[in-house]
Order: sequence, then C-alpha cells, then structure tokens
Amino acid sequence: MPEGDTIYGAAQRIRTALVGKEVASIETHRRFERDRWPERLGGRGVRAVDTKGKHLFIRFDGGLTLHSHLRMTGWWGVYERGRRWSKSPRRAWLVIRTDDHDVVQFGGPVLELMTDSRARIDGRIARLGPDILADEFDEAAFLRRLREDEPIRGFGDALLDQRNVCGIGNLWKAEACFIAKVDPWRRVADVTDEEALATVRAVRPRMLCSAQGGGHVRDQLVFDRAGQPCGRCGTRIRARGQGDDNRTTYWCPGCQA
Ligand SMILES: [Zn+2]
Repeated sequence: MPEGDTIYGAAQRIRTALVGKEVASIETHRRFERDRWPERLGGRGVRAVDTKGKHLFIRFDGGLTLHSHLRMTGWWGVYERGRRWSKSPRRAWLVIRTDDHDVVQFGGPVLELMTDSRARIDGRIARLGPDILADEFDEAAFLRRLREDEPIRGFGDALLDQRNVCGIGNLWKAEACFIAKVDPWRRVADVTDEEALATVRAVRPRMLCSAQGGGHVRDQLVFDRAGQPCGRCGTRIRARGQGDDNRTTYWCPGCQA
C-alpha cells in the first residue's frame, strides 16, 4: 500500500522520465475519455513533478496540473520504452509516453486535471498538514494541529490523519509509535510534545531512506508482526483495528507505554 515514501520515490522516477523531455503521446482509459486529456495536454512539456504527502502532481506547461492519489490500490510504473509492464494494460488509467519511457498510472481513485490556481486552493490539498518528507519538516505546525485535534482520540489514529501530518500511512504509523515507545492507544491529550515529536523524528529518516531506494526499503519492527516476539522485550506483538476506518494497528504491550 503506497505511503508518502513510495509516492516520493515514484515522483523521482517520473521526474527523471518526463521533465525536459518531449511528450510523444498521452493515452487514457475509457473512463477518462470525456476529459479529452490527449487533446488538452498534447504538445505541452512537463515542467515539474512534486508531491505533498501521498498526493502527486505532474505540472505541465501552460498552467495545467495532473493531480493523483493512489489510496489503497493504485500504482505508478515507469518503464523503459519497449519493456513489459508489471501490471495489466487494462488497468492503466493514464499512459504518458516519451521516446525513452512509458509512465503509467494503474488504478487509483484520484486522477484529475486541474489548473494551477485550482490546485492551490483545492480543499483536500490545502488542508494537509506538514509533509513528513518535506526538505524541512515543520514540527511546530505538526504540534499545533495535533493539539487542535480531539483530545480523546487515540494517538495512533491521529498520526494517520493527513491534516496533522501528511505522508504517514498505516505501516509507518505503527513503526513510529513502536520506535518512540508510545502506545498508539493513548489519548492524544496524554501524549507529551516530546513524545509526539519522537514518533515523527523516528520515521522521517527511515521514510527518506526508503524513498531514495524507490520505496522498497522497509524494515518492519512491528507492522504485520502480530503474535511474534517483540525485538526489544520479547512480549508478543498485538494487532487490533483502530479509529473510524478501523485500520489495524500493531504494538508491543510490553515496552510501548
Ligand atoms: Zn516490546
């Protein structure tokens, strides 16, 4: 499941393939036929590719931006021209071809073309909290937003809320709480600023490292390890659904207090 590090890594590969290169063709899945992207984007170059949390933006010349969010099921593929794709072409929503590469978004619920000005004011993007993978992570903004959140909410659930900090998904939420020894079930009000900062500081370098490795380098200390002994204290790791979305959280009841 793509989290901020995966999207960041994908953006780097897409940037290398598209920025400053001539776009040979743009094809879309039938479901986007009426949007006429091939006509609207034809002949335009790509000026930038950037991310905010799990959102990815491909910025074309002439003030148009493609906005994408993969949620649980989508995937970006960047393939050398002529190489076999890793997923079925039937699942391709968008294909941007250059002389050297095919850049493909497979599936994913959010793929839309908007003007730059609309992209700046779009509520879903404007409301996002500080980006865990930004060049400088804004810790003060993170704490401010956390303190404005429901005080009785579970801390793990709050860490997943993209309005508090964006880019962290279910895997890195569990890892962050484990490394910082913070029980994800504690109420936000009972977690100190130092503890909250310890969780984001724990995963930021790991996520950056994962992003540089293409999003595949992930040492899981606690995520998806229910029933196995904790590497720190030997207690069996537990798993249970948390928050409105009932996302499974993993934690060690022995050393996360
Ligand atoms: Zn433990």
